[in-house]
Amino acid sequence: MYVVLLGPPGAGKGTQAQRIAAATRLLHISTGDMFRENVKNGTNLGKLAETHMSKGELVPDEVTIRMLLERIGRPDAAAGAMFDGFPRNVVQAAALDAALASRGAKIDRALMIAVRDEELVARLGGRWICRNCGQLYHERNDPPKKPGLCDKCGGELYQRDDDRPAVVAARLEKQKPPAALVEHYRTLGVLKEIDGERSLDAVTADLLEAIR
Ligand code: AMP
Repeated sequence: MYVVLLGPPGAGKGTQAQRIAAATRLLHISTGDMFRENVKNGTNLGKLAETHMSKGELVPDEVTIRMLLERIGRPDAAAGAMFDGFPRNVVQAAALDAALASRGAKIDRALMIAVRDEELVARLGGRWICRNCGQLYHERNDPPKKPGLCDKCGGELYQRDDDRPAVVAARLEKQKPPAALVEHYRTLGVLKEIDGERSLDAVTADLLEAIR
């Protein structure tokens, strides 16, 4: 089964993807995580990606698609995967469709986590990530027990450059799923919209129901 998770930045895609991966054991593929890993390791791909990420812009399609196709070509993705942060536009969606079709597979579900703009702005400023284990927190919705420290591993929490206020507004405008992308999956008959303005648990439950 191949699932695409769609939603604007701040809709809770990353958190929900982690929960769904844990509950279903679907392989979680996040292009954002892959880029951040490359940035951390100082690879050429990371250096290139960082010039775009730091400005709240998308990394060019050619680079992103090449990285994603390489990832889904590995054996652990043969049985299925959940895509988080990919595709961001119709060009990327078509590349993914073609790659899956070439092995007799397709996107089975596109799950859109819907959240209004006003709510997104309130949410986006408050996101923190553990530098050590990657666990996500939110100042308002899901705070760590001790400020600045990870509940799970005690690691230091940090704020992504692209979660800083100056970059947030630009990201929202540039990184909402374009209407054409949502239409792409609606036309394929696999789109399901989920109200993302509820508790984490309620949203997870709906996502799991849509997958199972
Ligand atoms: P995310 O963690 O999905 O919010 O991604 C963080 C950043 O990585 C984005 O702001 C983009 O700069 C880049 N990125 C992640 N996925 C993609 C993608 N599918 N296409 C282009 N850029 C991406």
